[in-house]
Amino acid sequence: MVEPRVGWLPLDECWLGLTMKQSLWGARTASNKVVVMSATLLVVSLLLSMTDEDLSVALHPSGWWTLVIFTLAFAVAHLFVFHVEYRREAITYTMTELPMAFALLYCGLGKAIVARVVGGVLVLVVKHRPGMVKLLFNGSLFVFETVLCYAIFHVLIGEERGNGVQPIVGVLIALLVTAAVDAFLVSTVISFFEPGQWRRARTEMASMAVVSTVSGIAATLAAALSLAWPHLTILGLVPIAAVWNLERNHGRTAQRLRDFEALHQLSRSVSSSLHTEEIASGSISEIRNLLRSERAAILLFDPTSGAVSLAASTGEAFEGLPTTVHDPRWRAFAAAPEALLIELSVFQTLGIPLATSGGNVIVAPISADDVAIGLMLVAERGGSTGRYDAGDVLRADAIADRLGLALRNAQLHAQIEQEAWRDALTGVPSRTAIERILDDELDGSPDDHQLVGVMLIGLDRFRDVNAAFGHQFGDRVLVEFTARLLKAVDNRGVVGRVAGDEFVVVYEVADSEESTALAHDLALVVQMPYHIDGVDVSVAVSIGLLEATRGAAEGPVLLRQANQALEWAKRHHDGVVRFRAEIEGDAAERLLLLADLRVALDHRELDVHFQPKVDLVTGAVVGAEALVRWEHPTRGSIPPLDFIELAEAAGLIGALTDQVITKSVAAIRLCNDLGYQLKVAVNLSTLDLLDEGLVDRVRRALRTEGVPADQLTLEITETALLADGPKALLTATALQRLGVQLSIDDFGTGFSSLSYLRMLPAHELKIDRSFITNVVTEDRDEVIVRSTIDLGHTLGLRVTAEGVEDDATLVHLAGLGCDLAQGFGISRPLPFNRFIAWLANSGFPVARNEWAIDRDAAAMATQREAFLKIR
Ligand code: C2E
Ligand code: CA
Ligand code: CA
Repeated sequence: MVEPRVGWLPLDECWLGLTMKQSLWGARTASNKVVVMSATLLVVSLLLSMTDEDLSVALHPSGWWTLVIFTLAFAVAHLFVFHVEYRREAITYTMTELPMAFALLYCGLGKAIVARVVGGVLVLVVKHRPGMVKLLFNGSLFVFETVLCYAIFHVLIGEERGNGVQPIVGVLIALLVTAAVDAFLVSTVISFFEPGQWRRARTEMASMAVVSTVSGIAATLAAALSLAWPHLTILGLVPIAAVWNLERNHGRTAQRLRDFEALHQLSRSVSSSLHTEEIASGSISEIRNLLRSERAAILLFDPTSGAVSLAASTGEAFEGLPTTVHDPRWRAFAAAPEALLIELSVFQTLGIPLATSGGNVIVAPISADDVAIGLMLVAERGGSTGRYDAGDVLRADAIADRLGLALRNAQLHAQIEQEAWRDALTGVPSRTAIERILDDELDGSPDDHQLVGVMLIGLDRFRDVNAAFGHQFGDRVLVEFTARLLKAVDNRGVVGRVAGDEFVVVYEVADSEESTALAHDLALVVQMPYHIDGVDVSVAVSIGLLEATRGAAEGPVLLRQANQALEWAKRHHDGVVRFRAEIEGDAAERLLLLADLRVALDHRELDVHFQPKVDLVTGAVVGAEALVRWEHPTRGSIPPLDFIELAEAAGLIGALTDQVITKSVAAIRLCNDLGYQLKVAVNLSTLDLLDEGLVDRVRRALRTEGVPADQLTLEITETALLADGPKALLTATALQRLGVQLSIDDFGTGFSSLSYLRMLPAHELKIDRSFITNVVTEDRDEVIVRSTIDLGHTLGLRVTAEGVEDDATLVHLAGLGCDLAQGFGISRPLPFNRFIAWLANSGFPVARNEWAIDRDAAAMATQREAFLKIR
């Protein structure tokens, strides 16, 4: 009768087998260590067995035939195994504790060793074909285990060889202690092969200790049963089977959890990187461990060409891997919907010399959004079986999924980075690239003869071109502009585009004169008319530039200063401007001014002046233009264009416009009260038309003062109307519906097309001052003014001439059929009280309210005569 013993032993064909193939020095040392350890175990076994000659005498002697039974029992125990795998190792649980428990009671040590070693080694050799080192270790361990177990058992039952329960307790304790020592030995050996895995192995061993305890108790019970009722021993095997089954399931669950955890760790590590190389190289060894593979490879295909752009592998390299996604032998694998389990013979048939030694191979397509982006290949599975199974395929698929996601993200990231380096429209380096190029350039060793120049070229009012002819047209101008710039710069420097309408040139020059000369050359070339789609357009540029010595300047600072010079050039219409201290001071100054402007707006300190508008037919004053004024406490009066630009840039323009409108509407009310019937025109900024609240605020201002909407005119420049076409037009239409009149200001300086003008809900057209100034003397200007007046009338608009500085011009304009005029020749813009005084004393008749007209029709007649005399 035999008592069962459930135990475990390291069926380490995986790591040992692997080790034999590796020629790594580290692995060879590990093998050497194992050999030494095996020898030690054998010597210790020998010494232990000599301590007590009773060891060879069985407690309950049995016949020779039991040797056969025990050998078979140990062999069977090795056949019924379950494996727990982690990384590339497998630990195998066997039922050897069951025969061992019975052997302790019914066999002497010699017989037990023979049965244990022969039974165990037989199965190992036949079933797993282990390497020599592995066989040596397992054989030595079998011997040692048996001797240790016997030694402990005999110490416990003592000289009188026990009675009653004593042998039973002895069996139990002997089994448990042996199990613990085994656990220690196996984890030690594993740690030889997987450095750094000692802790992990120990945890594994701890859980095995629990398993061994449970199995040990069950085995002891079965053995005890055999002592009392030999025939019922069979009953004792039933709980053993149950325990075994439970343990097996537990092992599988734990295995799954471990796999899950490892997969989770893999996805965490791959998703933490945005670089394909990093992801591939970082995950390849994880994959190798997760799939217990000796060899693994990842291929990544270039999204556009399909060529392999990246290959990472571990273990011996595969032969015959594809170099492109289009490789006909591999196409099916890359396009497969999921991972495939492929026998080596298939590769032979396909003519792929994969050169792997045995087993099968998993080929998993790596895809993202249903596009094949790569392939994953694993071969030569280690672990308990040496062949991949369906579970491995699932795992491979899960890994490929995560890899696909991470690699695709990385590819997109790379693409975005790539795009960040090149301007998409013109193909020249982008701002990011130029910053890097400039830094590199400045990092060079200082050179007395060569300076690094930075030139910013800004297109003046390029927005108008876009607005008038459409963005596509604007884009074509920019492309042509870039081509000319590149040709003109040639190999003297690098051209980049830093903003929609701003280009940069980084170049080498001897001195600042050469630099300025280059700037003028470039300006000349790019300002020549562009002939596109039958349209001729010219663009003007402003240029800001400066030079620096290598090693003595910083890129970002140079770019900022060049930008300040460019802004200065634009503001002062200066063409080419070299950065100088004053300009930097100017930039700082503008910041201070902005702070003061905020205060002035908060305190409503901005003033509004009124410039009269005269009807050229009746000679009557019919309105005025409201012009904002700012008297700075220390700097005196600041030109409106200066602080309006500031307000626009700082988002204060809405508040500014509001104040001008409120004051202007109040002025209209006062005029009405005085009996005058005047229209007052307020200027809007481009940005005002994009402000959705504008219409409401205008309505409220009119309602508060009780002023009819048609007494308020809003002046809009062509640019403003064109800027954000639909939205500006929407606001303009809403204002018109409110009853407010609209006037197109500075007409002739933009790019308005006739068809566009026709769409505008305007009432008035103001011819820009630049055409009026010389209208009397310059024929060309006269032609323009005359045709503009005709155009305005054709479109049903009244036409105003601005900037009328003398009587001659006034009379001339009246002759041309112009409707209204304003200008210094009639009156400068005046503060409201002086404007009222002017109305009374200028000699011009003034449009009157009905009640006022009734009252002094006579006086008006006199004034009219006076005006006609001027004409
Ligand atoms: P604008 O709308 O073309 O206004 C006419 C400008 O021409 C005014 O300059 C006016 O003083 C000036 N001017 C009038 N008659 C003559 C003349 O006979 N000869 C000359 N040389 N100049 C004349 P100002 O007041 O300096 O305003 C300049 C620009 O600032 C305005 O040009 C307008 O675009 C803007 N602006 C003025 N006030 C406001 C405002 O309240 N809001 C907005 N958004 N812009 C305003
Ligand atoms: Ca105006
Ligand atoms: Ca104007």
